[in-house]
Amino acid sequence: LESEMARLDRLNLIGEMAAGIAHEIRNPMTTVKGFLQLSKSDPEPFNIEYVDLMLGELNRANSIITEFLNLAKNKVSYKTLQPLNPIIEGLYPLIQAEALLSNKSISLQLGECPKTFLDEKEISQLILNLSLNGLEAMNAGGQLLVKTYTENETVVLEIQDQGCGIKPEFLDTLGTPFFTTKETGTGLGLAICYSIVERHNAVIDLKTSEQGTVFFIRFHEIENIKV
Ligand code: ADP
Ligand code: MG
Repeated sequence: LESEMARLDRLNLIGEMAAGIAHEIRNPMTTVKGFLQLSKSDPEPFNIEYVDLMLGELNRANSIITEFLNLAKNKVSYKTLQPLNPIIEGLYPLIQAEALLSNKSISLQLGECPKTFLDEKEISQLILNLSLNGLEAMNAGGQLLVKTYTENETVVLEIQDQGCGIKPEFLDTLGTPFFTTKETGTGLGLAICYSIVERHNAVIDLKTSEQGTVFFIRFHEIENIKV
């Protein structure tokens, strides 16, 4: 049962998030409005660069709303006992297509993993968000490695990139909604990952350096299936 403290905490968070999203959506709207006003007083036909900028801003606003709803929905996970590897295999073509688009590659090393309680949709989203971040971090190309194995009765998922790494000063802010260092980022991907990890009673960890970043997700539910 949720304690009063936790409930207040959550309400507080929702308030902060609402303020955040209002701000994030207002920015692109202001840009689009500015261009539209400009075009009213400009007899020239619509500048294609302006149109592209406006479309870009509208797309960003749209992604923010979609991802925010994903995060804010009072989510309940539908976890069933299942193996992790097939979820990754199912996502492989999608991630590979994304990697190939920008001359990167992806490799899988799927080890022995007993079944754990997983919400397939959420775990897919988690893997996708972390993989896309990994690919986006590899400006100079490289390989994304997705690994699974069992360690101390824990199923471990590793997502490793050869990207730019995360600056130490950003580590504390990571996973805070709307924190992004990317021009067109939403800053919601990791926040969604963290909430999915929490709903799975899993633990997320990372190691980062200028050679790249590894995210570790540990699922501790093996004891459940021993009975
Ligand atoms: P977005 O991808 O929209 O920026 P995320 O929540 O997915 O939002 O990520 C937040 C920030 O965390 C990114 O902007 C980036 O600075 C940093 N980050 C996340 N994953 C990685 C990674 N694998 N390598 C380097 N930086 C990362
Ligand atoms: Mg992201």
